[in-house]
Amino acid sequence: MSAVKKVLVVGGGIGGQSVAIALAQKGVEVEIAERLDVYNVYGVGIIQQMNALRALDELDLADETMKQGYPYGQLKMYTSTGHFIGLAGAPPIGKYPSHNGISRRTLHEIMYDKAIKLGVHYKMGTTVTHIENNKDDVTVTFTDNTKKTYDILIASDGINSDMRKLIFGDFKPKYMGVSVWRYAFKKHEDLDTAYMYYGKRSKIGFIPMSDDSMYMFLVSAEGADNPWIEKSAYVPMLKDYLSEFPAKIAQDIIPQITEPDLVNYRPIEASHLPEPWFKNRAIVIGDGAHATVPQLGSGAALALEDGVVLAEELDKADTVEKAFTAFMKRRHQRCMAIVDASETLAEWELLEFEGKPLPEGANIGQVIGKAVGTLMAPH
Ligand SMILES: Cc1cc2nc3c(=O)[nH]c(=O)nc-3n(C[C@H](O)[C@H](O)[C@H](O)COP(=O)(O)OP(=O)(O)OC[C@H]3O[C@@H](n4cnc5c(N)ncnc54)[C@H](O)[C@@H]3O)c2cc1C
Repeated sequence: MSAVKKVLVVGGGIGGQSVAIALAQKGVEVEIAERLDVYNVYGVGIIQQMNALRALDELDLADETMKQGYPYGQLKMYTSTGHFIGLAGAPPIGKYPSHNGISRRTLHEIMYDKAIKLGVHYKMGTTVTHIENNKDDVTVTFTDNTKKTYDILIASDGINSDMRKLIFGDFKPKYMGVSVWRYAFKKHEDLDTAYMYYGKRSKIGFIPMSDDSMYMFLVSAEGADNPWIEKSAYVPMLKDYLSEFPAKIAQDIIPQITEPDLVNYRPIEASHLPEPWFKNRAIVIGDGAHATVPQLGSGAALALEDGVVLAEELDKADTVEKAFTAFMKRRHQRCMAIVDASETLAEWELLEFEGKPLPEGANIGQVIGKAVGTLMAPH
């Protein structure tokens, strides 16, 4: 490793652990400052497309992820009444299947175990309150008032990144008008791949996470002003949305939705930090730089790729600036292509839920096809 020896990663989620593992594999000393005292990753799942598995393979984790997850082929799409619409998803690349469904908690544990084995040090319950971001190093003040100097700071603290604010000033994600509801279940007997059903008020998807578990996501439009929904309303609202879908799998799970605490409800936001995502010795990766609405199920894949690519460029370059510049060259256009395509799909979906016509020439298949081409291209 030529450009750095000692690195602080702020935020130990998917992107933070990816870059920490990739750097530690190259012999760099890495610390992760994670705000949570103890991780409490929720138990619903995540869709990993083939490019996520390709990035995980560089961290030496793809096989374990597929073993503990559920590799599957293309997504089958239906109308709410069960008429087949078509297949979606990228073809497999080499040994990487089109998709792998996995529990977020399982993915987190796989990455955490790997990072610990490689000697990554976690500072749990800790964040950074101040940074002196110099030309040659970065000195941070932690919440316990201790100060420490690193070669670089990598901010991977998610869509509402506090580090982004410390580095660049205020920056707000934008609410997209759609929300996602998720709930985990025992795997339905009929679920052999991923399924999606398009209703008038919402769309639902069923994703296998392992041989005996699956999760459901439901996308709805809750209003332009992002209204607060009381937790006590979660279960009845979710059941009401599902009542629109006569498909057996949807009807079978309705009685199993009983616990408001197990409903994961998220209004969807997006953000694109203007380039470059670095200043002096601090750089933002993952959702803090390019949070994408989940219409293409790719945000975590992009965060994983960010980690792998950043470590590779730091390894190759003899200065941090060259490495950060090379990282931007490889990442900006690719990430923005997926962010923009996902937003277009979300905007059209919102129009459909509102009963409004799509813009002239709107071609969903073309947008998805182009995005899949981008994901398949090397990171
Ligand atoms: C409803 C929904 C469904 C999605 N489905 C998919 C999918 O199927 N496939 C996919 O690829 N992507 C999906 N995504 C996107 C994916 O979850 C994100 O893109 C991904 O988690 C981003 O990783 P990250 O490391 O940037 O941020 P996060 O995973 O959000 O990690 C941030 C970490 O930083 C910590 N942190 C926050 N603030 C601080 C601070 N100030 N100091 C220290 N630590 C801090 C947090 O506790 C957390 O551990 C989905 C997103 C949503 C909202």
